[in-house]
Amino acid sequence: MSEKRQITVARGDGIGPEIMDATLKILEFAGAMIEPEFIDIGEKVYLSGETAGISNEAWESLRRTKVFLKAPITTPQGGGYKSLNVTIRKTLGLYANIRPNISYHPFVKTKHPDVNLIIVRENEEDLYAGIEHQHTPEVVQCLKLITKPGCEKIIRYAFEYAVKNNRKKVTCLTKDNIMKLTDGLFHKTFNEIAEEYPQIETDHWIIDIGIAKIADTPQEFDVIVMPNLYGDIASDVAAQITGSVGLAGSANIGDHVAMFEAIHGSAPDIAGKGIANPSGLLHGAIMMLVHIGQAEAATKIHNAWLKTIEDGIFTADIAKGGPSVGTVEFAEAVIERLGQSPTTFAPVMYKVGLEKNEIKYEMSPLAKDRVKPDVIQELDGVDVFVLNNTYTSDELGEQLESVTGEDLELIVITNRGVKVYPGGFPETFTTDHWRCRFQFKANADKTNKEILNLLQRIDDAGLHCIKTENLYTFNGEKGYSLGQGQ
Ligand code: NAD
Repeated sequence: MSEKRQITVARGDGIGPEIMDATLKILEFAGAMIEPEFIDIGEKVYLSGETAGISNEAWESLRRTKVFLKAPITTPQGGGYKSLNVTIRKTLGLYANIRPNISYHPFVKTKHPDVNLIIVRENEEDLYAGIEHQHTPEVVQCLKLITKPGCEKIIRYAFEYAVKNNRKKVTCLTKDNIMKLTDGLFHKTFNEIAEEYPQIETDHWIIDIGIAKIADTPQEFDVIVMPNLYGDIASDVAAQITGSVGLAGSANIGDHVAMFEAIHGSAPDIAGKGIANPSGLLHGAIMMLVHIGQAEAATKIHNAWLKTIEDGIFTADIAKGGPSVGTVEFAEAVIERLGQSPTTFAPVMYKVGLEKNEIKYEMSPLAKDRVKPDVIQELDGVDVFVLNNTYTSDELGEQLESVTGEDLELIVITNRGVKVYPGGFPETFTTDHWRCRFQFKANADKTNKEILNLLQRIDDAGLHCIKTENLYTFNGEKGYSLGQGQ
């Protein structure tokens, strides 16, 4: 390899500059063919008035080099500052968050000496779409958006990762016993894609018992794929049980750009003291080298790092009161061991060709360019959400019955998802937020115009509609859940 690969580098906040300098020094001595291009992001940029925490020049660099090595940043306290991590992931379409969790027993203390699992977390969708609204004085909502292409991309990524990295099993975690449409879509897509990989064992657990099992018997897992929020929680649990949150790195992979980082934050409590552990960021950098096809340097650094840990050279967070070295000394110890292999741990050998360009998936086309699914979508009715702190359930029901018109009928009213009309129980607690479900009669004119007419009649009756959700069927199947008790 002769040409150096340009990469964008942010030295970050807090301990960021210390661990980035240590990491880049190790990469340089290992012969990594990279040319860092430094950008400013984070606290300094936020406080200069850029509420997104990133400048136009920084975006330009990221879009040009397509590879980003990022130190942790500090998000200033208080309102108005958006999370830069979420902004970068979503703007650049970094849909896959890959977090290896590995125990380094007996050198790093852990209750689980044999953890070696990979979490593949969906990184853009779910509740992290960040679409939140206040509907009434008492009620707020956050939209959980799960898309078919989003599920396909992340699940295929998990299977491809398993194949390329000699992993035997892919586990899916969801809560589809409750969220049958959203989590149900994720699980269904998992089952569909699993059929393309008969050589890989698969299983599925409901998220609650799934995370409990990660905490209790992590050795049962190999690769785990899950929606965004569950992945966020499960990956911290998985990292923590290895006894080494400070050691883990992560990759955020997209079709165009990829970002590599440590999983921890900017640790302001120890910033400037020269004692931070650079290992998490170094592991992120190793994943970056593999991604850009520099497997040899990645292998050399990883083995030198394992040897350093075996030789009992620890920063204070790992030494836990025992003898320790500072950030710079730790980096020097790794550099001294470049070319050596561990003797207790199995040496690592990265194969060239693991980078994403060789992974079997296609660039995701935009919706307008995708093959249109062969689906008949028909309007079936509407959920009208009403603000009401005046009437009882029955009184509200009677008012709405009088405005249904000829084409629609009032099927049910729920409050927080539970049926309160007709035939509600007086024991059911209610808020000021009522979901009123109207369905078209069999021979009705099933159009949005009829729904608009209904809304006009509801408004004329003096009721306050705060939002609507159209009800559709897809190839005759209901595309909406029933209310509890409906
Ligand atoms: P943190 O991860 O920064 O620190 C938690 C604890 O772990 C602290 O006691 C810290 O000293 C220790 N620690 C973390 N990394 C260490 C390392 N490499 N070596 C030794 N000890 C280490 O979490 P926090 O205190 O909750 O957050 C601090 C700031 O970091 C916040 O502004 C937060 O928003 C930000 N943050 C950024 C990222 C990111 O940029 N990816 C991730 C998480 C938090």
